[in-house]
Amino acid sequence: MQEILVEALMTPDVCHVGKESLVCDILELMTQNNQSCIIIADQERPIGIITERDIVRLLQRSNEKSDLIAKTAVQVMSSPIISLNQEQTLFDAMVISRANHIRHFPVVDTNEKLVGLITHSDLANAHFKVVEMQSEIIEATVQSKTKALLQANNDLLALSLEDHLLQIGNRRAMEVDLQHTHAAAVRYNQIYSVIILDLDYFKNFNDHYGHTAGDEALKAVALSIKQSIRQSDRLYRYGGEELLLLLPATELPQAGLLASKLVKTLEEEAIPHAACPSKILTISGGVACVTHNNTTYKTWQETVTHADECLYQAKREGRNRALTGF
Ligand code: GH3
Ligand code: MG
Ligand code: MG
Repeated sequence: MQEILVEALMTPDVCHVGKESLVCDILELMTQNNQSCIIIADQERPIGIITERDIVRLLQRSNEKSDLIAKTAVQVMSSPIISLNQEQTLFDAMVISRANHIRHFPVVDTNEKLVGLITHSDLANAHFKVVEMQSEIIEATVQSKTKALLQANNDLLALSLEDHLLQIGNRRAMEVDLQHTHAAAVRYNQIYSVIILDLDYFKNFNDHYGHTAGDEALKAVALSIKQSIRQSDRLYRYGGEELLLLLPATELPQAGLLASKLVKTLEEEAIPHAACPSKILTISGGVACVTHNNTTYKTWQETVTHADECLYQAKREGRNRALTGF
């Protein structure tokens, strides 16, 4: 931040008088100009100061008011005087002010000539504003850094290929692998199958046992599937509680058998689900395949859609089963 200089804070309309000026004239000048102090100057160079406080103190000490007002400035002024240079910084001025316990400073130029006046309150106010501005800057910086960090975090999450909860591939990984597997299948006349699996009555499960228990159940299902598949098969989180299994070099009948086995295995685990007709947690599945001559399905998206249609047929037919397409 740029340094703030005394000249930016001082008031330039400072009143000054010569050292032979009478106190009565000085009082008059202070009243007329509404000044709390008068600088005594010799050839425009400050040599002393008379403040309201000085006047009050002198009045208390004088026996006769007439004695006081007849005195000259040089007889009553506070002297020597500490001046500030107009090119000094606010920080330096604060240090000088604190060290000397002075409330009024004449401000001088490089020739030591009087150019203004600055008070301790002017300095304190300016200092307070600087501190306020600095904390606003710090707050804005923290805010923008936090925003950038959140953005970076989101970017990283988007780049990540794993689903944190289930420790399996996420949807992005699924799409990348499907694209790659499909391209290879077309190129080398290979086949692959996909199985989509969806938990039955899972909304009821969450409603009945709570979302955290739902998460645990979802993990248990993913684990059950992972333990039943080959290393070359890949499991992904397709959506909320829907999983997709990619089976390279697998024909439709084998894929159908595996899907039914997965359904059965989970049924045998008998995870309680009080809020559904069978009272245990079950899954339904839909299976589809890309044939080796690649005429049945044009794209991997169509294969997935077909598996999805089979899944919904399995739901309609009573759940806890897997249906195979063609
Ligand atoms: P259906 O048998 O027809 O599939 O019924 P359903 O209740 O399983 O299906 P629905 O699509 O109505 O509800 C799916 C539920 O899955 C709702 C949603 O809150 C829950 N869900 C999705 N992702 C998660 C998750 O990560 N954790 C938990 N606990 N619940 C999830
Ligand atoms: Mg479901
Ligand atoms: Mg679903």
